[in-house]
Amino acid sequence: MTTINWMEEVQKRKEDFIKDLQGILQIKSVLDEENATPEAPLGQGVKDALQYMLDLGEKDGFSSKNVGNLAGHLEMGQGEELVGILGHVDVVPEGDGWSVDPYSGIVKDGKIYARGSSDDKGPTIAAYYGMKIVQELGLPIQKRVRLIIGTDEESNWRCVDHYFEHEEMPTQGFVPDADFPIIFAEKGISDYDIVQQAQPGESAGGNVLLSFASGRRYNMVPDFAEVHLKVADEASEVIRNYQAYIQETGLEGKATPNNGEIILTLVGKSAHAAEPRHGKNAGIYLAKFLQTVALDDAGEKYVDTVAAFYEKSRGEVFGITYEDEDSGDLTINVGVMNYNQEDGGRVGLNMRTPVTFDIEAGKAKIEATVKEKGLQLENFSFSKPAYVKKDDPLIQILQKVYEGQMGEKAELLAIGGGTYARALDHGVAFGAMFPGREDVMHQKDEYAIVNDLLQATALYAQAIYELAK
Ligand SMILES: [Zn+2]
Repeated sequence: MTTINWMEEVQKRKEDFIKDLQGILQIKSVLDEENATPEAPLGQGVKDALQYMLDLGEKDGFSSKNVGNLAGHLEMGQGEELVGILGHVDVVPEGDGWSVDPYSGIVKDGKIYARGSSDDKGPTIAAYYGMKIVQELGLPIQKRVRLIIGTDEESNWRCVDHYFEHEEMPTQGFVPDADFPIIFAEKGISDYDIVQQAQPGESAGGNVLLSFASGRRYNMVPDFAEVHLKVADEASEVIRNYQAYIQETGLEGKATPNNGEIILTLVGKSAHAAEPRHGKNAGIYLAKFLQTVALDDAGEKYVDTVAAFYEKSRGEVFGITYEDEDSGDLTINVGVMNYNQEDGGRVGLNMRTPVTFDIEAGKAKIEATVKEKGLQLENFSFSKPAYVKKDDPLIQILQKVYEGQMGEKAELLAIGGGTYARALDHGVAFGAMFPGREDVMHQKDEYAIVNDLLQATALYAQAIYELAK
């Protein structure tokens, strides 16, 4: 059996690769529900990007299928088993501040610039060319290989939800939508709300918590909080104490008197919810202060609910602390806090659970704790973890491919964040960002290093062959 020089095969196709990549980068495939039609449920741009991939595949001799204009696939080979590769061709809006046209795909200094160049059109085209090389070399494979193309990864995953309702789940596969070498464990992700009903008609002689607001997203540590207090007569004392608290915590904040009210603001530090300890939660810090102020019963109850999470991001509040060797600690981020006197309050949490955590038992404990305090648990959602054991043949094959081509150890990564890999029953994230590279996904001037994409293509080509042979 002759050995294949994968990189050489990729280099032969470099010009076409760049041309085909530019073609899809030039389609503005941002979710556009306002202009949705039955044929283009996520907008015309998204549909055009999907169609582009299907046309490309048909031209190259793959069989293709459009699945509800939400997803599609290109397939080669024959056999019982199915190897799946899952990429996406939708992009987040380009935003401001670009120094080049975000939908040009211009190549400068070895980098190709465009929204989607690194997330995820570049890696998807790399996977496509991986398949194309295996096909063009006529290599013997015993399984079917399918490139599945999603179009709603950046928003609601309606693409994969719909796709897997109607289409076969691959036996195994990988997802080129994250980092090299291999992400083998991703925590489960759960969002839920703790709700406090309004208590109308309460007499309000002393201080009253009128409103409390902090955070807009469950998956971020909020960096700003604002509270409106109606104060009885010790307004100056509250302001003095707050200023002392601000000094003590080293955070920025203000107490502003306003017509018999005081407005308190606090600036914390934002961070991704996957590790709340990397941030300073403005809402929690402000609630912690408010525990030292005499408040109305409802206000006090809300403040206590939030402040309970002060320096407790490991599930202590619900008695569900948990860790496992492969994926680490359970974490809880307090992402969204909203309260006002008329409507009551809501605390929105984002919980990341280790891969071996029993979510049903965990949910029951949360519910019990919440009920005991006279609160309700609402909007509980759970995205199951993605996990393939370290000694699984899928991992071993991808490790061998990576180490063989890269000449360095293929470290296995466990993360608290979620990748598209969790849409597969038995899949891992495999690239396409190499270790140490600047992460420019979702940023202005997003780019991909052309040589990295070509290297990724070589890895994908061999991985597809090794998995399918
Ligand atoms: Zn992506």
